[in-house]
Amino acid sequence: MFKAPRSAYIHIPFCHRRCFYCDFTVIPLGDKIESIDGFGSKTINEYLFFLQKEILSIKHKSPLSTIYIGGGTPSVLDPAQIKDLINVFESNYGIDNGAEITMEIDPASFNKNDLIGFIRAGVNRFSLGAQSFNNNLLEKAGRRHGLKDIENSCLWLRDAKKNGLIRSWSLDLIQDLPGSKLDLWKSDLEKALIFQPPHISIYDLNIEDGTVFKRLIELGKLTLPSDEESFLNSEITNLILKNSGYSRYEISNYSLPGHQSRHNRVYWKGLGWWSFGQGSTSSPWGSKFTRPKLSKDYKKWVINQCEIKLEDSLINTEIPYLDLDEKIMLGLRVKEGINLKKLFIEQGWDEAKSEINLGKLLKTWKKYRENGTLCNQGDRFFLSDPIGMDLSNQVLIDMFKWWDDIN
Ligand code: SF4
Repeated sequence: MFKAPRSAYIHIPFCHRRCFYCDFTVIPLGDKIESIDGFGSKTINEYLFFLQKEILSIKHKSPLSTIYIGGGTPSVLDPAQIKDLINVFESNYGIDNGAEITMEIDPASFNKNDLIGFIRAGVNRFSLGAQSFNNNLLEKAGRRHGLKDIENSCLWLRDAKKNGLIRSWSLDLIQDLPGSKLDLWKSDLEKALIFQPPHISIYDLNIEDGTVFKRLIELGKLTLPSDEESFLNSEITNLILKNSGYSRYEISNYSLPGHQSRHNRVYWKGLGWWSFGQGSTSSPWGSKFTRPKLSKDYKKWVINQCEIKLEDSLINTEIPYLDLDEKIMLGLRVKEGINLKKLFIEQGWDEAKSEINLGKLLKTWKKYRENGTLCNQGDRFFLSDPIGMDLSNQVLIDMFKWWDDIN
């Protein structure tokens, strides 16, 4: 008998405007989102109506141990709206004592009172999308906030943590923004450390189709840091954060002891999770299921989806949570790596088949093991840190080739 997931992601697609590098499912609402008596705009209220309908439509509800409110910019919502959402889970699924309830927030989209409101609503962990402390880089990336907004947000969060109002918070930065040089990046990291965030996420910039950045690159108007500059940025990140007591527990994530993201671990471990909201992807038990990305299609889907039909499409105990290649990819992202033999057994391979396929994979990975990118302790394989974690792409590309060859 399958177990219902204990984790839920909720997508809030609203942003003030679209940043120049972003291709997420977002609805830009402009700089002045009307907030009347704390109940927000008509567009937001309508969306929340459909979102709650979807949350309630699941029959197999179990108490949740992690909830993640992401976006978009969830902090454009009023604290009362966040409270309503958490209450829906509390009353219908149950929330474990000690559950981790995370919310993404953007500087300049909330004030200190809002933060207190979100905490009173039940949020105990925040993820602040600072991206850079440099006003020039922020402006060039199409971000709406500036240095002062970040400093205020960090001070409020630091105080909330110090006063025991929240359990943890994370500061998110983007490495390799256009125009970022080594000295600017170093200064970003140093400024971040002033506020003592217990967790820091360092994301690489990806240039996605359809974004302003992509267009500017095509027009020759945007230059990204070279591979060499990028490598030096990674090196300095490792050095500064590790010397400050942070452990790199995943390719993009550093934390002080006890502050890892429990919710994100569910994804990396390939465990099941619910997901609700426009464009979001769930994987409760079986294949992944992505909701429509456009508002009108999402609303139509919520109205049309019959409860039983939705559950039918999600309940398929025959399908493993993830394909083996995806499990290896996710497993190699985390510091402890992955036990390949154990995975092969879970895959249903007998000893002979496991040995043959392991042999082929190790042949593919020979150069990475020789140059120290990939290490192993018995059957557990992991990327070295920092070199392996910084150069993980090639290891993964070759693993995907192995997977295609043996299928
Ligand atoms: S705030 Fe975040 S989700 Fe919204 S447009 Fe910018 S990067 Fe995308």
